[in-house]
Amino acid sequence: MDSLLRHMVDMTGHRDHTMLDISVISAVQELSGAVQTRVLTIATVSGHRFVRSRACIRAGGVACPEEIQDSASAGEPITDFPELAHCLDHHDSRAQGLGPDGLLRLWLPIWCGDQAATCLEITHEGGFSGDTIHMISGIVSVYRNFQNLLDYSERDSLTGLLNRKTFDDQLARMLMGADAEPQLPGQPERRQHCAEEKQWLAVVDVDHFKSVNDRFGHLYGDEVLILIANLLQSSFRAQDRVFRFGGEEFVVLLRSTTLDNARKIIERFRINVGTHEFPQVGRVTVSVGFTSIRAADSPVVTLGHADQALYFAKANGRNRACFYEELLASGLLQTIATNDTAEFF
Ligand code: GH3
Ligand code: MG
Ligand code: MG
Repeated sequence: MDSLLRHMVDMTGHRDHTMLDISVISAVQELSGAVQTRVLTIATVSGHRFVRSRACIRAGGVACPEEIQDSASAGEPITDFPELAHCLDHHDSRAQGLGPDGLLRLWLPIWCGDQAATCLEITHEGGFSGDTIHMISGIVSVYRNFQNLLDYSERDSLTGLLNRKTFDDQLARMLMGADAEPQLPGQPERRQHCAEEKQWLAVVDVDHFKSVNDRFGHLYGDEVLILIANLLQSSFRAQDRVFRFGGEEFVVLLRSTTLDNARKIIERFRINVGTHEFPQVGRVTVSVGFTSIRAADSPVVTLGHADQALYFAKANGRNRACFYEELLASGLLQTIATNDTAEFF
């Protein structure tokens, strides 16, 4: 009982999803004596479900987050997990099955309403007693409640996008992930490819949004913001991060891609907005400023660069995406000398 309480204190002491994952699988692993415990992400891409391991602990080991190895792949198809697929289709609270290694798997989806984007997977040798299952279910309930609470504090209530508070953290995480890019020996082609891949930051601002409010009222304005948030999420990739920075301004972090690709993805989004028929309101456009993220620059400096490019887009016709480094190289923008250290005071 003591160790159950200790784990509960540990789980609820975090303000971060990754740390919460780590502490929940550590608790389940230790208290159930499992062979392995994992947190799985269940993603739906083009109507198909995929399973991807997010964190894992094996008997005698320590819990670790699992880095995304191949960002192009959504994960393993759910058809590899037939019992879990059946359980998700029927909104069941758990499923059991046999893994390819002949060991038993227990799956516990974390239901939030009618969605389960997360699932615990516990691998064990014998069966679990009723008491153990009862205890694990209790931990899952605390996990679910706490995950909801974290989501609530990290997300903007109108659009469901990440809020500004989480930006610095996500940016640091993305830069860390980029440094940890696998340097596999004997794969020069992949390394060559990586060298051109960078992280990008885009600032998006709705054009003449005040006039949407003025003509149709605030409620229609809000509806436009929700629809633009949806277009952001469908136009960018799963590994990118989309924030509402307040008002009608959004920020996107694009992970590991070439300039050409970043430009294509941003243009795709801009065109998706420009060609969308907004109910009642009709056509709405956005302007975008983007820049590459350099680890040496503070978040404020990087945001400033993207903002400069955004203002250039606004001053030059709107409904366009401008790239800071390109404007700089062609003399259309000047670097603004900022005393970086002043930001800290
Ligand atoms: P520009 O093309 O130069 O960006 O023009 P704009 O009208 O979009 O820019 P401005 O900054 O003048 O106006 C932004 C407007 O966004 C003003 C404000 O009423 C509206 N706004 C800010 N937050 C919200 C919100 O949460 N909901 C709604 N409906 N409107 C908002
Ligand atoms: Mg605006
Ligand atoms: Mg604005």
